[in-house]
Amino acid sequence: MKVWILMGPPGAGKGTQGDLLQERLHVRKLSTGDILRKHIQLKTPLGLQVQSLMAEGHYVSDEIVMQLVAEELKEIQGQDVLLDGVPRTVVQADALQAMGVSIAKVIYLAVDAAALVHRLTGRRLCPSCKRIYHVDTNPPRQMGYCDHCVAVELIQREDDQEVRIRTRLSLYEQETSPVLDYYRAKGMCQDVMAEGEVEDIYSRVAAIFL
Ligand SMILES: [Zn+2]
Repeated sequence: MKVWILMGPPGAGKGTQGDLLQERLHVRKLSTGDILRKHIQLKTPLGLQVQSLMAEGHYVSDEIVMQLVAEELKEIQGQDVLLDGVPRTVVQADALQAMGVSIAKVIYLAVDAAALVHRLTGRRLCPSCKRIYHVDTNPPRQMGYCDHCVAVELIQREDDQEVRIRTRLSLYEQETSPVLDYYRAKGMCQDVMAEGEVEDIYSRVAAIFL
């Protein structure tokens, strides 16, 4: 089993690229969110612990996260794995190393901050059918209204407002730059320019796998 790690700031298209890689290259995508949800749903001992931590507004510790990841990796045999959203801290990266997994490459989706802000602040959502538009790159036929729903006004999610985005970006930077530095120092990190069309970005990412 080889493990790939996909990193990138919010809005860099990690979810989209991860899904494409899973679909086309048959790597198994593992995200912390999915693993946590699965355990909560199955009410495993760790799942129940996580649920009460989250209900009290606490973070799930690195130790628990990595315990869950380790279990998940043990269950998956003979398939390459793409980690999404983990490791998020150097402690988690160390824990992954200690598990003895063989990390093939860390792929970092690099995007210019200004481009990211433009991409995210331009997003509009139809509250009815949940379709996503972009005021510049994917506008609806009639500005402000959904193409598929009658007279439904598009909205901007609070998370897509500029102040929120800048805060999320700087948090991401603070949190993950030590992890990136960790992998860069080991020569394991490869940057992919993640601007432009989804398919073009995908070609660049997939090239690393081949
Ligand atoms: Zn709609």
